[in-house]
Amino acid sequence: MGEGASGDLARALRQGGPAIWRRTPGPAAVADRTPLTPDELTDAEARLVRYRPVLRALFPGSGWQGRIESPLLDYPSLGEPSGRVFVKCDHALPMTGSVKARGGVYEVLCHIEDVAVRQGRWRDGEPMERLLEPQCRAALSAQKVVVASTGNLGFSIGLVARAFGLQAEIHMSHEAKSWKKERLIAVGARVVEHPCDYTDTVARARESAASDGAYFIDDENSRRLFVGYATAAPELAAQLADRGVSISDARPLVVYLPCGVGGAPGGVTAGLKAIYGDNAIAVFVEPAASACMFAALAFGGGEPVSVYDIGLDNDTIADGLAVPVASRLVLDAIGSNIDAAVAVPDAAMRHWVNRAWREAGLRLEPSGASGFAALERYGLANGLAAADQGSERAPVHVVWTTGGSMLPDDEWKALLEPEPRA
Ligand SMILES: *Cc1c(COP(=O)(O)O)cnc(C)c1O
Repeated sequence: MGEGASGDLARALRQGGPAIWRRTPGPAAVADRTPLTPDELTDAEARLVRYRPVLRALFPGSGWQGRIESPLLDYPSLGEPSGRVFVKCDHALPMTGSVKARGGVYEVLCHIEDVAVRQGRWRDGEPMERLLEPQCRAALSAQKVVVASTGNLGFSIGLVARAFGLQAEIHMSHEAKSWKKERLIAVGARVVEHPCDYTDTVARARESAASDGAYFIDDENSRRLFVGYATAAPELAAQLADRGVSISDARPLVVYLPCGVGGAPGGVTAGLKAIYGDNAIAVFVEPAASACMFAALAFGGGEPVSVYDIGLDNDTIADGLAVPVASRLVLDAIGSNIDAAVAVPDAAMRHWVNRAWREAGLRLEPSGASGFAALERYGLANGLAAADQGSERAPVHVVWTTGGSMLPDDEWKALLEPEPRA
């Protein structure tokens, strides 16, 4: 990496963080190439509504109504001097316990609908319960979806695809946790383990899908994933409005979004900017070792940069975020509007797994807790809140917790133990 400011940032990343990159304030200098359209969003919302009865039938229990939505909580103890801190609890999303229940499941639903229409099993306007009829299930069981994952995307897609009767082939990169693989195998998915990182695993999965004509859910290039994630934005807006919180120049919304390839945070950001414009401030959060979005924005002029090329090793406890190269599709769709990228140390994520449990009873995996570490660094310590006290700008902070409610007890307890001393 070069001299000066960008050299300093790269050095901070190599030292394990923290590091902060900020977009030059004001409207994005360059317009995004392929922004989210209002039609894409309303179409996605309508699809999720029409699938509710089917999801409810396929995932019975605890009275779930088939809504892929998560609660918004007040965080109890960070009140001063930050303004209000909310938690958007995607770690508690139904079915799969991670943010991937939005994008990943949405793309599976799109694909199932395509198949059903093509085969004359369902037409727009008919009840979606037709998908549960035996002939339709037989038709779906001849279909195969393939996806690559560091764990949560494969887990979400495999679980839901199998519930609809599709075949599922899940390619896992080396950091994927055993329990996710075991649960997938138990529901009849095929799990293919790779000894390599996420980017290489995606390439291998893409090849495998092409060789047998399967439907490939392409985390690096999927507009459907992106749009599925964007539906979280109107959901959050409605929740804030319900609490009487209105977002304005004087009260901007700052969201802390854990970032892997960028699909989940990118989709959410696109949705929020469509609603609030520049009054929504998007902070993308990554482990320092896997700061691929940071690298694309700070060093790549908005083009993907491999973290290995700036001396990082992509080795982190945040398995959900262990991605060496960001998605070009996401950079094209929203890259110019990302307001900040914050790279956090592994120790800070682990600290917040513990603290969020103690203070708020939240069961989070390290990836899912990373937003708190960024809030502490960016929002509270040297960012918006303190600087803006005098100007009466009182931001509303939303930490997006993206995974962890389904961690098995032993995994969970291991995270709660004190850090082993070297
Ligand atoms: C996948 C994932 C993310 C980030 O999503 P991307 O689309 O890869 O950016 C965040 N948190 C968790 C827990 C995840 O599994």
